Amino acid sequence: MKVRIHRGAHEIGGNCIEIEARDGSRIVLDIGRPLGALRDDHVPLPSISGFDKPNDSLLGLIITHGHQDHWGLVDQVPAHVPLYIGEAANRILNEAAFFSTGAALEPTGFLRHEQAFRLGPFTVTPFLNDHSAYDTYSLLVEADGRRLFYSADLQAHGRKARLFDALLCALRGKVDVLLMEGTTLRENGVPPNGKTERQLEAELADAISAAPGIVLAMYSAQNIDRLVTWFRACRRAGRSLVVDLYGERIARATGNRKIPQSGFDKILVYVPQHQRLQVQRSGEFERVNEIRASRIFPDHFAPRRTELVLTFRGSMMREIERTGCLDGAVAVWSLWPGYLEQPGRMASGCWCAPKRALPATPMCWPYRRAATPRRCPSRVRPRPSYSRRSRLTGNGWPTCPTRPG
Ligand SMILES: [Zn+2]
Repeated sequence: MKVRIHRGAHEIGGNCIEIEARDGSRIVLDIGRPLGALRDDHVPLPSISGFDKPNDSLLGLIITHGHQDHWGLVDQVPAHVPLYIGEAANRILNEAAFFSTGAALEPTGFLRHEQAFRLGPFTVTPFLNDHSAYDTYSLLVEADGRRLFYSADLQAHGRKARLFDALLCALRGKVDVLLMEGTTLRENGVPPNGKTERQLEAELADAISAAPGIVLAMYSAQNIDRLVTWFRACRRAGRSLVVDLYGERIARATGNRKIPQSGFDKILVYVPQHQRLQVQRSGEFERVNEIRASRIFPDHFAPRRTELVLTFRGSMMREIERTGCLDGAVAVWSLWPGYLEQPGRMASGCWCAPKRALPATPMCWPYRRAATPRRCPSRVRPRPSYSRRSRLTGNGWPTCPTRPG
């Protein structure tokens, strides 16, 4: 088995890995867009035989999860290449394509936790990961008597942290080659200010309780862990969480009725003007009809401002200002701090800039707890080298922005 890393070894994201078996058969893992590429930049596909014209030796492209730095070039991959991805991840990308950046794919098959499948000489076993993108998998690839493990993105500080422990146990003694992400690898251990989702939940609950007005929550709609954290913090603080239509549809696309969505007590759904126009233009009115029972309108924001936590995106800025609900408002930044420096990409950063300051509570990206498994179902404990190798976190950044709120 031979491995060629086309991208991702010297940068964060943009992953693309080609694996070739002894008989010349090949598979490709991820087809990511580099994080450094701007929205309108054209990024060509890596040079892989079978992407330009059909080649029977290319058996498939496997996308590990719905972050753009792992799937972002898929629209350039011709339809003759068999495609595999998680079923929920596919639904989420499809829904995201309606509102913003996503992809309407036609997968050949779906990845399922610990359900191995064959592609020619390759046996591929997906493992569901703890990661900020819902339905993320790492992959064990076996061929020619060798075993390669590709971690994709994973963490152990999220709401599915037990998956990380289980993964370490499942792989014990089964890996010849390890390709592992290391976004927040640190030579001397833990990054500063690291927090788990549960710790963030407690801190957010305190921040919400102390807020004199409406709380504006800035987080990624596709970070389902963070949605759950916000929702639970709201409940602890006795407030309702207002999600926008896009966020509600993404939550619904998980297919998991335990994820907060329309119909939950303390979940309200707001349809910003630009999303309303998107629905009108498409004629797909079921998107709004399905949230009717939970809908809240902007003229309720001001009178109910002490009862609400409002999911906020830059595109809503003027609309929210016009409602007059911002007296005593608190904005909580729960995204990568670097976006604050890119107002064109994340216009909500404007509100955190000094000239138009709202009181802000900068939030640190969380850090996972220790990687060593607490319990292993096997009688033999994993080798200690696993925990040392695995000293990494998800695609987060460890420090808070310190610029004025
Ligand atoms: Zn990711």
